[in-house]
Amino acid sequence: MKFVGAHVSASGGVDNAPLNAMAIGAKAFAFFTKNQRQWVAKPLEQKTIDAFKANLEKSGIQPKHVLPHDSYLINLGHPEIEKLEKSREAFIDELSRCEQLGLEKLNFHPGSHLVKISKKDPDYADQLMEAELHCLDVIAESMNLAIASTENSNVNLVIENTAGQGSNLGYKFEHLAYIIDRIEDKSRVGVCIDTCHMFTAGYDIRTKEAYDKTWESFDRIVGREFLMGMHINDSKPKLGSRVDRHASLGQGEIGWDAFRFIMNDSRMDDIPLVLETIDESIWAEEIKALYALIKV
Ligand SMILES: [Zn+2]
Ligand SMILES: [Zn+2]
Repeated sequence: MKFVGAHVSASGGVDNAPLNAMAIGAKAFAFFTKNQRQWVAKPLEQKTIDAFKANLEKSGIQPKHVLPHDSYLINLGHPEIEKLEKSREAFIDELSRCEQLGLEKLNFHPGSHLVKISKKDPDYADQLMEAELHCLDVIAESMNLAIASTENSNVNLVIENTAGQGSNLGYKFEHLAYIIDRIEDKSRVGVCIDTCHMFTAGYDIRTKEAYDKTWESFDRIVGREFLMGMHINDSKPKLGSRVDRHASLGQGEIGWDAFRFIMNDSRMDDIPLVLETIDESIWAEEIKALYALIKV
């Protein structure tokens, strides 16, 4: 069974998120447990936590189909120690908030190396490789620290693949595998694959052949058992452009076929499939359209 939803608003309080999901006919959803553009948020009040749980129950959506997203400010691979510490602290706070809300997953972008390397430099390729590997090591260390300091938690750390814009890492399946390989407690690690990011990072899914080839390499390099969620987006930029710009389904470079393959792929059963498409006024329609793709 497929569980499709969208990244809904939590304005006015996180307890509104399940209601906003319900209103568009979602069976899954994503949201921010705090303002995503601020470092600090006041702790969740007990009455908000209770209201969230009550509304989630009312929506009929299961905790495992909720995929909270962390703040955009957090960079678990930051090259400067002060900012790295700040990110690690904020990330642990996000994990605790998910735990308090009775949720099981926290979705995050791995991190960026932020190193400026000139393409004219004769050592460009070597320097880039070094910056990337160092950053991936720091990200893995951040995750190990976060897991260790939330020992009794059931919240999984769900790494999202990226488009590879700027110095963002996680655009290659090998990056995800490299990080996972270094996590001591692999029982709390998962992966979220964003179709737009996948596509602009150079993984084609537009034809059945390309789709199968891409997922075959995911299975081989990362491992299907780690797939804990997906972001379902079409893409404005072209294949391999390394630019992160989402489009409404069928209105970008990917097109409907890829979404039909996903909706008929049993490997995507029972995980949150979350729209982050740009026109939220048509999310209800997009959810319906996705379900209509299922062949009976
Ligand atoms: Zn995404
Ligand atoms: Zn994106």
